[in-house]
Amino acid sequence: MATRASERSAEPMRIGVDEQGGLPLPWLGPAMQHAQALERSHALLLQGPAGAGHLEFAGLLAQAWLCEAPGRAGRGAMPCGRCASCHLVRTRSHPDLLLVLPDAWRARLGWLGDDEAGAKPDAKPSRDIRVEQVRQAIDWSHQTSGRGRGKLMLLHPADALNGPSANALLKTLEEPAAGLRLLLSSTDPERLLPTLRSRCQRLKLDLPDDAAATAWLQARGLDEPAPLLALASGSPLEALAWGEEGITPGWLAELPQRVAAGDASAFSGRPLPRAIDLLLKLAHDLMAQAAGGAPRFYIASRWPPPADMAGLVAWQRALLRAARHDEHPWNAALLVESLVTQATVLWPKAAAGRAPRNMPPLHSAR
Ligand SMILES: [Zn+2]
Repeated sequence: MATRASERSAEPMRIGVDEQGGLPLPWLGPAMQHAQALERSHALLLQGPAGAGHLEFAGLLAQAWLCEAPGRAGRGAMPCGRCASCHLVRTRSHPDLLLVLPDAWRARLGWLGDDEAGAKPDAKPSRDIRVEQVRQAIDWSHQTSGRGRGKLMLLHPADALNGPSANALLKTLEEPAAGLRLLLSSTDPERLLPTLRSRCQRLKLDLPDDAAATAWLQARGLDEPAPLLALASGSPLEALAWGEEGITPGWLAELPQRVAAGDASAFSGRPLPRAIDLLLKLAHDLMAQAAGGAPRFYIASRWPPPADMAGLVAWQRALLRAARHDEHPWNAALLVESLVTQATVLWPKAAAGRAPRNMPPLHSAR
């Protein structure tokens, strides 16, 4: 549901293994073994659920492909972490590795200085991979390899390729320059041009299991990770991002009742896309509840009585409409307030603007 789940700015992004061979994320190891079996492919499509660590994995794979001491100390498919090339990948200064990301992603990661490829300094950073970036990447691919182990172009996320940039890339995917490999990452490969997809070998990236995700989050100071993990559909990266935005298990527990009571204050100060994401997930769970099912995102919440299904469908439509236009909010706070007010009519027996009779009193947020 959350298409922006992995657009986060939690911990600083780590590219590749460190000097001791430590992985940027502990669950990336198995996919590295699978990648080794695809060694001959010149184009790889890395796919998996949002928040699985696509960019971290792509950086790890890039480091392994370019490593100048592969297999050192019996590390198998892993990069050595210590050679000059591994160091250059880690610092994003390897001459044979090109990271092609939307400007909005590079801004969030603090990488804007890396490559100015036609970006307009005053404009809002683009969420697309621009055709100018792809053209510049193709020019780069025809230059001689700096360190003689081939070149690697990483496009992340490939879903951000718009029509012109995808078309510009097609010929390079068909007939790449000698020694060039391409790595595309995607959380939703079906959104890519079929002609792009069909030219890539696929590699699947999985989320860690609950136990591993829980341990990783606890090591980062989240004492009770389960409700945040559920909100994040099992992605520990996304759960951590929610935690860093001040979302706590207690806050999540109260949200359904606060929304049912028309209380929009829970969302004040939150970016509009995040507020709408929280509301869409709530709409999903309210539908599950109305149909007699269990919630998926707000697993430990106290719930208002089941809401009117027809009204829920209409509310969800309003939320989806708002989500499509969240780049141009005329007034984000008013929009969220209006969406929350619309939710109160889903419980016709409750007095307008007040909690249904059988609700316990609400505590203030956090
Ligand atoms: Zn190395």
